[in-house]
Amino acid sequence: MSGTGNTIGTRGLVLNEPLIFEQGSPGRVGYSLPPVDVPEKKAEVLIPKRLLRDGIPGMPEVSEVDVIRHYTRISQWNYCVDLGFFPLGSCTMKYNPRINEDMARLPGFAKAHPYQPEELSQGALQLMWELEQYLAEVAGMDRVTLQPSAGAHGELTGLMMIRAYHTSRGNPRSKVLIPDSAHGTNPATSALCGYRVVPVKEGPRGIVEAKAVAEVMDNEVAAIMVTSPNTLGLFEEQIVEVSKIVHAKGGQVYCDGANLNSVMGISRPGDCGVDVIQINLHKTFSQPHGGGGPGAGPVALKKHLAPFMPVPTVEKKGNRLTFDFKRPKSIGKVRAFAASFGVLVRSYTYIRSMGSAGLRRASEVAVLNANYIQSQLKGTYHLPYDRHCMHECIFTDALQVRHDIHTVDIAKRLIDYGFHPPTIYFPLIVKAALMIEPTETESKETLDQFIAAMKQIAREAQENPDLLREAPRNPKVTRLNETKAAREPKLRWRPTS
Ligand SMILES: *Cc1c(COP(=O)(O)O)cnc(C)c1O
Repeated sequence: MSGTGNTIGTRGLVLNEPLIFEQGSPGRVGYSLPPVDVPEKKAEVLIPKRLLRDGIPGMPEVSEVDVIRHYTRISQWNYCVDLGFFPLGSCTMKYNPRINEDMARLPGFAKAHPYQPEELSQGALQLMWELEQYLAEVAGMDRVTLQPSAGAHGELTGLMMIRAYHTSRGNPRSKVLIPDSAHGTNPATSALCGYRVVPVKEGPRGIVEAKAVAEVMDNEVAAIMVTSPNTLGLFEEQIVEVSKIVHAKGGQVYCDGANLNSVMGISRPGDCGVDVIQINLHKTFSQPHGGGGPGAGPVALKKHLAPFMPVPTVEKKGNRLTFDFKRPKSIGKVRAFAASFGVLVRSYTYIRSMGSAGLRRASEVAVLNANYIQSQLKGTYHLPYDRHCMHECIFTDALQVRHDIHTVDIAKRLIDYGFHPPTIYFPLIVKAALMIEPTETESKETLDQFIAAMKQIAREAQENPDLLREAPRNPKVTRLNETKAAREPKLRWRPTS
């Protein structure tokens, strides 16, 4: 979109690019090696013949510049937080300060080997120890395992600890309570741990009500898994009462803490009765994510669960830090080595550079930004829960449907205006949701540009709906046939010769 002045829009030079397998020519190479300084031997001498191949069919033979241009071109088809606003609800796509990268690249950290002796790993262990203390403080818990590789992995680790805890008391129990407003990974985790999921309907204000929990709570319930703030972007205001009801019958309270970004320094899950919580470092604590890079989902817990933590834990003995593998009640290992260490360095750096006041301020601004968008778009888009939100706000297409314009059309049109679309059609309990999470790192100007684009799209829905049905029109890849993509996926490239 050009000429509106206050929107970003998409225009410019984006180059075509075939697959790398379709490029190059036989014999072209992209490297040069120095002469060997040891006696040369044929591969057949060193490796059994049956394990050797003559060649790899279809391998591209390309030069260095072919490779650089190929990946640079396709990277420019992509969208990222460093390029613009990325309001993907539930994902906390905040800007990641570059100092995190500087620290993660310090050779002492970047080149540390996971099996190097503890005497040579004291710095890394110290960082892990301190990070554990910081996360425990933010969450209001006693201990933290840094091992899990992602949020869902943290949930699994947390629920395995709960299961081990109940088992040690004689009965693992059989059910887990899960509110409708919880994240989809919560029932998946429960099922993986061998529990039957009992849904709890949220009340009319979008939160779990204590009386609904009391009705289904019994001695077979191992835990409740609450996402707080929940997937409607609302704080679970009755969590303290809910915890009391669950604890009274011997159950545990698991909090999905992926949305901790909105409560840092303001409310601590541990003070609300939560026994276990996973913390998505790649959301709240500033680690680049999306695109399959490493994440980390540390699990914070109350001390009665500490015996069940995965091994190794990091322990401090005098001035010496050490990995403790001798924990007889541990659920065992949940990953190779000790953690996604580079992620820990980034989050540690983020916490140290923000300080406690800075973390609280980040949460305040994250909540303020979401409420600003909510208040500015209210009336233009249907707001299913008309009350203050936390870190994200949820609209629907209900006012646009009368022009036969749907959530997907609104999301696709945003791409023409230069914005990554919000999360759509999630959470499932809101029909045709648009879930917008701005995060604290966006300026008021950016929020205003986004709001202007959303209002423009609402006008287009009335005046020129075809613009939306064909959107996006500006970027390299225009509207895809998603049904065809789902029914006839092409997942593999096959050599033609
Ligand atoms: C992102 C998210 C998860 C899953 O975290 P991953 O790191 O993607 O596994 C779980 N619960 C909630 C509420 C989330 O937002």
